[in-house]
Amino acid sequence: MDYETIVGLEVHAQLLTNTKLFCACSTEFGVGDNENTCPICTAMPGALPVLNKRVVDFAILTGLALNCKIRSHNVFARKNYFYPDLPKGYQISQFEDPICVGGKLSFLNEGKEETIGITRIHMEEDAGKSTHHGTFSLINLNRSSVPLLEIVSEPDFRSPKQAAEYMRYLRSVLLYLGVCDGNMEEGNLRCDANVSVRKKGETKFGTRVEIKNINSFRFVEKAIEYEAGRQIDLIESGQKVSQETRLYDPDKNRTISMRSKEEAHDYRYFPDPDLLPISVDNQWVEKIKNMLPELPLEKLKRFMKEYNLPQYDSEILTDKKEMALYFEEVAKNSKNPKAASNWIMGDLLRILNEQKKDITQAPITARQLADLILNIDSAKISGKIAKTLFDELATGKHAGLSIDEIISKNNLAQVTDTKAIEVVIDKIMTANSGQVEQYRAGKEKVFGFFVGQVMKEMKGQGNPQIVNDLLKKKLKGGE
Ligand code: ADP
Ligand code: MG
Ligand code: ZN
Repeated sequence: MDYETIVGLEVHAQLLTNTKLFCACSTEFGVGDNENTCPICTAMPGALPVLNKRVVDFAILTGLALNCKIRSHNVFARKNYFYPDLPKGYQISQFEDPICVGGKLSFLNEGKEETIGITRIHMEEDAGKSTHHGTFSLINLNRSSVPLLEIVSEPDFRSPKQAAEYMRYLRSVLLYLGVCDGNMEEGNLRCDANVSVRKKGETKFGTRVEIKNINSFRFVEKAIEYEAGRQIDLIESGQKVSQETRLYDPDKNRTISMRSKEEAHDYRYFPDPDLLPISVDNQWVEKIKNMLPELPLEKLKRFMKEYNLPQYDSEILTDKKEMALYFEEVAKNSKNPKAASNWIMGDLLRILNEQKKDITQAPITARQLADLILNIDSAKISGKIAKTLFDELATGKHAGLSIDEIISKNNLAQVTDTKAIEVVIDKIMTANSGQVEQYRAGKEKVFGFFVGQVMKEMKGQGNPQIVNDLLKKKLKGGE
């Protein structure tokens, strides 16, 4: 029997604000335990929350990027539960009145554009962190009250791969917007995957299982794949899927039961009496709309059209906005977008990978790469010399110099002077008279040998076309 996998994702993105959601504590990562805390985020009696307005700005910006309706009436609600890393005994979140609803997001999945629905986006605070050490546990509240956006999708995904691609693209969008750093290892972007299966042709959804806190793209795909298989096995053996919360164990590649699924009413949500409702008016939304950048998929389409690049290249070049910026600078200054893309996709990415660097730390500036391409296109230097030069630049060898300075200082310009090339050819022919005889007797294969020798003598700087033409003429016996 054929089954269909149904997935909905709840993505949590930590916002790139300097301070927390309801207090002035820093959100900086990696400081000493409990250093970023105050009476508000440690829940001292009488401490009152004060809303960080920037969080609302970021929520609106994200909502607009995801084509949501921005709601004017916003309420913070208390979500009540006990856990040692939640000192207030409740998390401040949004429940009935989230800031954004009814959006959609289009992204590429194996080269095809797909669109999934966004149910809602709401603002909430993070909890602290507990670590367990044998007989005792420790609590670190640095994360307590750090702002998060929860982005909830419709149950629109039909494959693990599709869900992972959405997650990748969503990360790219959040980075473009500058609202989240997308660092999944530090847990700044993570998701819960809701998974159910149903028999093909069935119109009702099956019982869903929620897999909590997945923190890599690969695990999103693997966890969903495993979970769907587990559910199908249960149904096929006559059992029922129970609604529950599970955890993914990447080492064993399986999900394990954590607890039976809680319902919204279990949390006793109610409007937080310490915080006033926020009214988001049109003017506020319009102001944020003006800050909306060109998003990765729009940029990708523009690159394909404007620069005539393949979809694959455009996808890689637009994944990060700094990469897109670098590309456009090289393309415009070199007037050769195709070469710009080839150099970046090939040599530059290889070097960044080797040096474990980001495009913002590229050892070759966009200006230098553009100049390199200009010099190749005007035949001032050969492609081969350009490659060597590129690798040298990557090691920092010519730091601070322009491409033109490097070329003249190191005498790298290609030799197009026919007289100079002829001198070399004559020398090589004299030294290899045996091969000249062979060539003239019809063994045309030795031609390659002569090209090699001449180029070697000229340190690769002979213009290949001229070397070829002159060699042919001279070998044939012409003067
Ligand atoms: P909860 O807080 O209980 O997890 P939410 O409304 O926040 O509820 O999230 C529900 C998520 O589960 C959404 O992403 C939704 O698309 C998804 N979902 C709902 N029903 C199903 C289903 N039958 N199968 C898979 N996903 C589902
Ligand atoms: Mg959930
Ligand atoms: Zn604080």
